[in-house]
Amino acid sequence: MIPTLGELMYPANARFAVLMYHSIAFPENGREKHLSCPPPLFERHMRYLHSSGYSALSLTDIFDRLAHGKEIPEKTVSITLDDGFEDNYEHAYPVLRRYQIPATIFLISGWIGKTNAWMTGHQGVVRRMLTWRQIREMQSGGIEFGAHTVSHPRLSGLDDSAATSEILASKQDLEAGLNREVRHFAYPYGDWSDSVRDKVRKAGFVTASGTRPGFNNPATDRFELRRIDIRGTDSMRRFRQKVLFGTNDGGWPLPLRYYGERFFKKIRGRA
Ligand SMILES: [Zn+2]
Repeated sequence: MIPTLGELMYPANARFAVLMYHSIAFPENGREKHLSCPPPLFERHMRYLHSSGYSALSLTDIFDRLAHGKEIPEKTVSITLDDGFEDNYEHAYPVLRRYQIPATIFLISGWIGKTNAWMTGHQGVVRRMLTWRQIREMQSGGIEFGAHTVSHPRLSGLDDSAATSEILASKQDLEAGLNREVRHFAYPYGDWSDSVRDKVRKAGFVTASGTRPGFNNPATDRFELRRIDIRGTDSMRRFRQKVLFGTNDGGWPLPLRYYGERFFKKIRGRA
């Protein structure tokens, strides 16, 4: 869960952070707070990346560069939004266009044009999902779409044929609707097993994103991409720290904290 010193020390021109958002909307209750980022805060996040020297690249751009042995710019980030909420079109898309920031939206193919019925039991708020019309318009505007299964199950709990069908059918359905190859996958709930990862690879995806935090680099397993969980409750200070250190807790990375505390203990011991 914690980035190692080796990962943090990986040359800055060869590592990248993938940020994970879900709904871009004001949370309607406490349980929604971690999934819903208020639109004004999302705007501040994107403005900060735009004005602070970050290079925002799409996942496809990053992996094309890696495949051709090209360098990745320093301070590279990639924006991802999971599930395909309609508010991504209303609130995220205009901001992304304004700052020329590419993004990947991971769609649940079976819920397109419907509501978030798979989650209302625990979130308690009904939210609309993107329609095909909105998806196609965003694709023309430079947004990239990835697959997030057909129905958002925990893949490691399914038998082989059910898991294969969730993975493969979502790719095929999206490719038919988008008329474009779908190269990126995200595991629902960040849940995967070795056999799930193999199925995603065999289905023909180029990457698969999980929810483990940390930076990625050319040595990171492409089917276990790390992502930083950006929450609607994060202050700007916390957001800056998360992106800078590649962690979810927004503070100094634990290895540095560990050595820092040992150092101060030593000093105190001598005093
Ligand atoms: Zn999801």
